[in-house]
Order: sequence, then structure tokens, then C-alpha cells
Amino acid sequence: MAKTRGHISIDIDECKGCELCTVECPQDGMAMSTELNRKGYHYALLVEDVCTGCTNCALVCPEAVITVYRENKANKTKEKVAVITDVRDNITVTVS
Ligand code: SF4
Ligand code: SF4
Repeated sequence: MAKTRGHISIDIDECKGCELCTVECPQDGMAMSTELNRKGYHYALLVEDVCTGCTNCALVCPEAVITVYRENKANKTKEKVAVITDVRDNITVTVS
């Protein structure tokens, strides 16, 4: 059975460079940038096209800056599967 294909988007200017997501990615698809974001941190990037949309990176990110998508093979669209918000006040995790 073919692997699910996924993708992530990262709000790089809000990343604090903790590297948790890069450690938790089971596909070893993430790495830290060599450049700094506007807050002066190296930021996380998806560097290999190996994402399965597992949501690990989004779930461990203390800044909640990662959104995960999975490809819907039926209609060839990407669907949002993990959004984590309000981490400082009242954590909201939405994983479908
Ligand atoms: S969703 Fe999973 S496979 Fe994709 S980048 Fe995040 S941890 Fe890696
Ligand atoms: S877990 Fe979040 S804050 Fe930490 S490096 Fe990854 S994207 Fe940045």
C-alpha cells in the first residue's frame, strides 16, 4: 500500500529554533535553516519530500507554528489535518 503523502507549512518568523520537530519527524525530513528569522533564530524547514502527514512535528511544536496537510488522492487536493492554536492561553488541537 502506498504511503500517504503529506506536506507542512511553517510560520518561520514565529519559530523559536527549539529543534523538537526535527527530532520527532519519523521521516527525517526536517532540518534547521542556516539563515536566521526576524527574531534571530534558525528556523525549521521541510528539506526532503518525504512527509506522510503524520502530525508529529505539529504536536510537539511549543509555538504551534506548524500546519499539516495530507493529500486526498480522490480529488488531488491537500487537506488540513492538524492545526494547533492558542498554546499560551488554552491549547486547542485539531487533528482530523
Ligand atoms: S507531518 Fe510527520 S512526516 Fe511530515 S514533516 Fe511533520 S513529522 Fe515529518
Ligand atoms: S518545534 Fe516549532 S519552534 Fe521548535 S524548531 Fe520546530 S517549528 Fe520551530
